[in-house]
Amino acid sequence: MKYIPKIGLEMHCEISKTKTKLFSRARNTYSMSPNTCVYPVDMAFPGTLPVLNKECVRLSLMASMILHCQIPEYFLFERKNYYYPDLPKGYQITQETKPIPVGIYGYLDYECEGQIKRIRINNIHLEEDAASLDHYYNTSTINYNRAGIPLLELVTEPDFHSANEAVSFLETMRSIYQYSGISEGDTKKGQIRCDVNVSIMDENLEESDPSNWGTKIEIKNVNSFGGVRDAINYEIKRQIHLKETNEYDAMPQQTRRWDEEEAKTKYMRSKVDAVDYKYFVEPNIPKLKIDPKWLEEIKESIPKLPLERKQKYIEEYGLSSYDAEVLIKDKDISDYFEECIALKIDAKDAANWVTVTILGELNKNDEKITDFYLTPSMLKEIIDAKNKNSISSKQAKEIFQKVITEKKEPKQFMQKENTQISDEKELTEIISKIVSQNESQKNAYLNGKTNLFDYFVGQVMKETKGKANPVMTKEILLKELQK
Ligand code: ADP
Ligand code: MG
Repeated sequence: MKYIPKIGLEMHCEISKTKTKLFSRARNTYSMSPNTCVYPVDMAFPGTLPVLNKECVRLSLMASMILHCQIPEYFLFERKNYYYPDLPKGYQITQETKPIPVGIYGYLDYECEGQIKRIRINNIHLEEDAASLDHYYNTSTINYNRAGIPLLELVTEPDFHSANEAVSFLETMRSIYQYSGISEGDTKKGQIRCDVNVSIMDENLEESDPSNWGTKIEIKNVNSFGGVRDAINYEIKRQIHLKETNEYDAMPQQTRRWDEEEAKTKYMRSKVDAVDYKYFVEPNIPKLKIDPKWLEEIKESIPKLPLERKQKYIEEYGLSSYDAEVLIKDKDISDYFEECIALKIDAKDAANWVTVTILGELNKNDEKITDFYLTPSMLKEIIDAKNKNSISSKQAKEIFQKVITEKKEPKQFMQKENTQISDEKELTEIISKIVSQNESQKNAYLNGKTNLFDYFVGQVMKETKGKANPVMTKEILLKELQK
């Protein structure tokens, strides 16, 4: 028997590009020092009230539009009631279904293994993040920096059939958040977290009928894309094994967690133990009517997204699909490349330098391109010098290395004494002088002593201290000797 995996994702991504949090004036920033970006509202002090951040609403509406979702007429929040030490109010302000959250019933096209696929989006909603807990041997600490950070939760339909599809979607979504200025999408800072839902169904059943789907297993809080991939693959194998040992039907719907160290999903609780969150409308935030004119403005302001840039790179700049993909994967890399194009560096040259040499350096040093010393205009200087033949390709690579290690301008390494003489006029002058000073050797050469050619090359090299461009020297010598 063969099985079809069905996978649905709940992707949480912090909105990191606003100055302040969702309901307070505390800075919305990632800080290494605990409890330094906190206001009384974030700590739920009695008497404090939330004030909605308009920019968060704008960015969430933009995300909803990018996902082709239906947008509500009114914006409304709800309380999700539960107690946990990272939740000082005893409830989370979120959006559930009344009337609808910031977006429902959309879709997104993404690329996986060279094919464009479509995933249906069930909904996207805006909510506040919880504080974070750090656990030690016999104590735990609470860091309120994260409490109240705006969070977008996106829920897909269970349309993915493999770990690769799910991860490709997450990568696409992350770059969309980056390109649209919603979030840095930095998994290392914990800005993206996923719940992964997995089931398997018999291959011969009709997939469009939900009654044929298998038992949904939810895996909570997977913090990296690698973790999502491994958790899905593990869970598919585990469930197939249960089918084959006739234990599948007795398996209750349940929540599991991904144990990174053991590379296993582990049982947490069954669906019957599910908490009743007793949702109701958040009374401290008035219902908000969305102005259609504002929606238009937001729509107009959506920047070019990665897939569009990729198409432009292939169609306008003639790049390979592979190079285009590497360039667009990270917005900062793609911006750097576009700066090179704006400086009129040849697109293929620029792509080559960025995808091979620069990315190689960045990966080696685990560095970001925004911190990279060598700017596009420095790169242009090096490439221009190479194209004018005043330096060789090898020298270009050497100068590149010197610029980034010594943190000096390329000019400093391109002084005359270090570079080749490739100026035709300059070389012709030198060569014709040498030929006229060596009349007898010239005549002997013309009378058949062809090995004297090397003698002339040697003289030119001596005169230029070895800096004459060798290919040009030979070409010009051939002409001058015939004169
Ligand atoms: P719940 O009510 O338990 O939160 P939902 O129906 O809202 O469940 O679905 C939550 C997530 O689980 C969504 O991402 C959805 O696509 C996914 N999902 C639902 N049913 C299945 C299934 N049979 N197999 C895998 N994923 C599923
Ligand atoms: Mg949620």
